[in-house]
Amino acid sequence: TTPGILASPAPNNDGDGKLRPRRLDEMVGQRDVIERLKIAIDAATRRREPLGHILFDGPPGLGKTTFATVIPAEMGTTVEMANGAGLSAPKDLLPYLTNVSEGSVLFIDEIHRVPKAVEEYLYTAMEDFRIDIVLGDGVNARTLNFELKPFTLIGATTRAGMLSAPLRDRFMIREHLGWYTNDQLKEIVMRNSRKLDIPVDDDAATEIARRSRSTPRLANNRLHWVRDYAQIKANGKVTLDVARNSLDMIGIDVLGLDKQDRNYLDTLLRVFAGGPAGLEAIAHTMNVSSDTLEDEVEPFLLRSELMVRTRRGRMATAKGYEHMKVKPPDAA
Ligand code: ADP
Repeated sequence: TTPGILASPAPNNDGDGKLRPRRLDEMVGQRDVIERLKIAIDAATRRREPLGHILFDGPPGLGKTTFATVIPAEMGTTVEMANGAGLSAPKDLLPYLTNVSEGSVLFIDEIHRVPKAVEEYLYTAMEDFRIDIVLGDGVNARTLNFELKPFTLIGATTRAGMLSAPLRDRFMIREHLGWYTNDQLKEIVMRNSRKLDIPVDDDAATEIARRSRSTPRLANNRLHWVRDYAQIKANGKVTLDVARNSLDMIGIDVLGLDKQDRNYLDTLLRVFAGGPAGLEAIAHTMNVSSDTLEDEVEPFLLRSELMVRTRRGRMATAKGYEHMKVKPPDAA
């Protein structure tokens, strides 16, 4: 294989390849996004043109990579997977660009991590399907122009705000993926329990959905764990009790928060007296990276109104105190 190309892409190593939807119609929720994408796909197909570049943003685990694999499947084309963190120099990008075939998809996950020097190559690649490489410098400099096959770039990011305007503006379609409802997660749990061939009671599926932080990836992770537990401890049948006991055992609480989420709230409440506290200070205290907190922990805590982000820093809400069973300071 060409250096820099992933032989077998494993964008999210959560071992649920079997559960990932393969077609748009197998996806649950995101109806308005899907409807818009279908129109764009149909129009491009009818015109025999490549689909316009697409940017997906939203918290991890909500379906960005799934869309990036399902869209090429709908179009009958192939996809190559790259990660912004792996494209540190222009030479890392070249093999991907020169490997694209007509109408195929290049997926760049974490596209906000592509450095400026590499990003500039993306501009002409996206706009004119061309890259210009300057070799040498001064009077000896020469420019090599490569024609690329017309292709579709699909970018995914958890931080839309970190993309430069010139890059963002080159995406024809921009879609934000929002949180899933508990009913949608329950449907995912039910469908996937059939794929995994394990009987899950209706109220058990409701419970797993409720404890999945509005995130399909977590619903699948929880389901895998509940299945293991059921097979070892409960004759393989997932009842409400089995779901509750197994999730309690790995520290997933009734709101779906895991140990790290609660550790964050606990740090904010106890060490920083409820805030306001800076993200970096919280991250140092917890000994995790601030990126992890900002990408994976805070979005759901914010959405659940357990904390708020203010100009002076992060602060716990009354609901945050209540959930953690910590007595709030006297409201004087
Ligand atoms: P992201 O790229 O946004 O981090 P993924 O696309 O990898 O998230 O989604 C994680 C997992 O969640 C997928 O492997 C898939 O099984 C499941 N999933 C995501 N979106 C959906 C959906 N709309 N319907 C059903 N399952 C989904």
